[in-house]
Amino acid sequence: MKHIAVVGAGLAAVSTCAALRAQGYDGGLTLYSAEPGLPYDRPPLSKDVLLGKAQRADVLLRPADWYDAHRVVLRPGIPVRAVRPGEGGLELDDGTREKADRVVLATGGTPRTLPFPGTHTLRTWEEAERLRERLLPGARVVVVGAGLIGAETAAAARVLGCEVTLVDPVPVPLAAVVGDAVAGALHRRHTIEGVRVITAGVDRVEGSVVHLTGDAGQVVADTVVAGIGIRPATELALTAGLSVDNGIVVDTGRRTSHPHVYAVGDVARHDGSPVRHEHWEAAQRDGEAAAHGLLGRPVPEEGASWFWSDRHGSRLEAVGTMADAERVVLRGSPEVSGSPDDSGSPDGSGSPGAGFVAFGLRGGRLVAAAAIDRVREIKAARRLIDRGVPVEAAQLADETADLRTLLKR
Ligand SMILES: Cc1cc2nc3c(=O)[nH]c(=O)nc-3n(C[C@H](O)[C@H](O)[C@H](O)COP(=O)(O)OP(=O)(O)OC[C@H]3O[C@@H](n4cnc5c(N)ncnc54)[C@H](O)[C@@H]3O)c2cc1C
Repeated sequence: MKHIAVVGAGLAAVSTCAALRAQGYDGGLTLYSAEPGLPYDRPPLSKDVLLGKAQRADVLLRPADWYDAHRVVLRPGIPVRAVRPGEGGLELDDGTREKADRVVLATGGTPRTLPFPGTHTLRTWEEAERLRERLLPGARVVVVGAGLIGAETAAAARVLGCEVTLVDPVPVPLAAVVGDAVAGALHRRHTIEGVRVITAGVDRVEGSVVHLTGDAGQVVADTVVAGIGIRPATELALTAGLSVDNGIVVDTGRRTSHPHVYAVGDVARHDGSPVRHEHWEAAQRDGEAAAHGLLGRPVPEEGASWFWSDRHGSRLEAVGTMADAERVVLRGSPEVSGSPDDSGSPDGSGSPGAGFVAFGLRGGRLVAAAAIDRVREIKAARRLIDRGVPVEAAQLADETADLRTLLKR
């Protein structure tokens, strides 16, 4: 293997390059990016970047000199038009053909949007900059979709003094992912922080008027933001004839249906998993796993998936799969977390009394945990899930019981 081409320069792509070098791969490595400039991290876009607290230089995935130091040829602003594994290479947007023995597709996702001109989405640095300019004090902002990015955007807009309306047809968004208790507390918090929450969909937008479905009426907006999820960017995989089904289907080593093409990050779906894990740590892990796969090594055990989200000064964290739980046990009170007088511990100290945790159990073992401002418990829960340690509901619910002691059994 003389040359590996990585298409897309988000976290999954950069993680793949870093892991290949860390694992001793010595051949050529080229990173093709449709976006201009140095690769950057996306989670700050809906947090510090919208708030004006972070500049592009603050959110780079790697410093500028890292690429040369690791012999990664970065080709920014050059979209790849086609991948031709049978011909051992790929074709760039300007028609140039490049050789590669292996190709890694790390093309991420494209935000779904609403069919109304002027609707903002938030995936790229440019989109974050455009949106930030609109989030002025007093601006009327309608955010459609109260999932992770919609909720963070609504919270940032509120901090910036906007009049924010959050619209979602689902009464308690995220319940399927983090359970009813945590999702309910998170959603109530919006209202407490002065966000107007409406359970409805968007029927149409006429000028500055957003018409909602059912009898929810209408809202006047200076800015409309769609936070309604992404579509995996599978175009290259489809034209290359790879197996695609809600993402590019990959095996444990992140290999696609073609033996010379791999896929990582938001665009990939692990064979056997019903969902794609569109989260930061999953993209990071995918890069490490793909490096093992590319180098013909077995992929180490990966453990439960994890993600976080920050909004209204609190941190949501979730580990494992809540949908697998037969029973949910709470530690701490959801009511406390929803109160403006005790908004948890933004420093993430996770001290008892701040925030709460929902533990998901199945057959006497933990399969998931979701929490607001409980970093310590989530860390312990993660290890309990990964090791399959038997747990008792009473211990989980007891604020005074240190979960780490269960790990010592
Ligand atoms: C605003 C925002 C906030 C987030 N917050 C959190 C959070 O708090 N916690 C969390 O766990 N996760 C969060 N995430 C999710 C996390 O950032 C993503 O899961 C991760 O960035 C996915 O990385 P990726 O490399 O797969 O895709 P991306 O980062 O999307 O990178 C894909 C790259 O491929 C490029 N590309 C596409 N097609 C081509 C082509 N044909 N040729 C060349 N290049 C191409 C794209 O332009 C893009 O640069 C957030 C995401 C966003 C957008």
